[in-house]
Amino acid sequence: MIKLHDKQFKLFLNEKEIADAVAKVAKAVAADYKDETPVFVGVLNGAFMFVADFLKSYEHPCEVSFVKLSSYQGLTSTGIVETLLDIPEGIGGKSVIVLEDIVDTGRTLQKLVHLFSGSNVKEFKIAALFYKSSVYNGEYPIDYFGIEIPDKFIVGYGLDYKELGRNLKEVYQLNQDHMINLVLFGKPGAGKGTQANYLKEKYNLKHISTGDVFRYNMKNGTALGKLAQSYMDRGDLVPDEVTIKMLQEEVEKNPEANGFIFDGFPRTVAQAEALDNFLESKEMQLNATIALEASDDILTQRLVERGKVSGRSDDQDVTKIKHRFQEYNQKTAPLRAYYETQGKFHSINGIGEIKEITERLGAVIDTL
Ligand code: AMP
Repeated sequence: MIKLHDKQFKLFLNEKEIADAVAKVAKAVAADYKDETPVFVGVLNGAFMFVADFLKSYEHPCEVSFVKLSSYQGLTSTGIVETLLDIPEGIGGKSVIVLEDIVDTGRTLQKLVHLFSGSNVKEFKIAALFYKSSVYNGEYPIDYFGIEIPDKFIVGYGLDYKELGRNLKEVYQLNQDHMINLVLFGKPGAGKGTQANYLKEKYNLKHISTGDVFRYNMKNGTALGKLAQSYMDRGDLVPDEVTIKMLQEEVEKNPEANGFIFDGFPRTVAQAEALDNFLESKEMQLNATIALEASDDILTQRLVERGKVSGRSDDQDVTKIKHRFQEYNQKTAPLRAYYETQGKFHSINGIGEIKEITERLGAVIDTL
């Protein structure tokens, strides 16, 4: 186990495994290019070690150069990729093979393909040492790769966590053994969002509210927002397939999280099953589902008050509020039994001062 900044990492690939992967890529590329002089273009900073070892295993004529792009800040991809060092000159008519340390979502790759699309190279190929095939959603096929890896945040062998760890000879993965994943359960107005805001600070967790994600998308007029709008306006649940996919994307955006607070999800048994399967596929699990209990009268009062300030149309109309309670009773309430069977269901009194309720929640979480 090693520590970089605030995070613990555990061994994932040893030197031999990495060397074998590098040799595998070099051999595959050599089979295709040994009769010409290709230009290998390393992507800085992460690929420098891969490039060095790759070249040592590539025993045929070749040239080497570098480009530099930036997209990672800390642990999560920012989504914005900048060009810091542009494509080399004099590559026209030659075969270019880009050497990437890791391909994950494919955003950096897309930018690279774009960078080179304007140059009149003979051929353009991508060789990645590590390939997260489960999260890759680019169109460009990965021509060569060393090892397929699961969606884990990794460091070492050129890859960094906030600039540390590049000099490690092995590759390490973020240690998630101490992760806490919670579902906050309860009817609309129970205080899930309010409490999540306190708990996320106290336990350093990432808060995902599906209602907030939908509202954000509606405000920004995205396709998802337009789809969700009619359901939300009526107080109906958005269809499971839409919500489940969205939730998974939100989790995947945060590979560094110490844990998640799911607020407003799951709301149906199908969502709960999907959540269990999804977490299992990431070697994660739910620790507890905690319900905030309050009577319908109190909840209705709270929602109407909130509607005055938030402007949420589903909070301003008592008929819609009643309909949301019905949706809850029919579709969400059965989850209680679902989690009781798993021994994960906890229930606390959701009436009182905000601080008192946070303490009641903390008392449950501290036993986990
Ligand atoms: P909330 O902010 O949690 O009260 O959610 C507001 C609205 O968003 C709900 O009434 C639903 O229309 C939609 N929504 C939020 N979470 C879910 C979910 N897990 N499944 C289906 N619809 C949801």
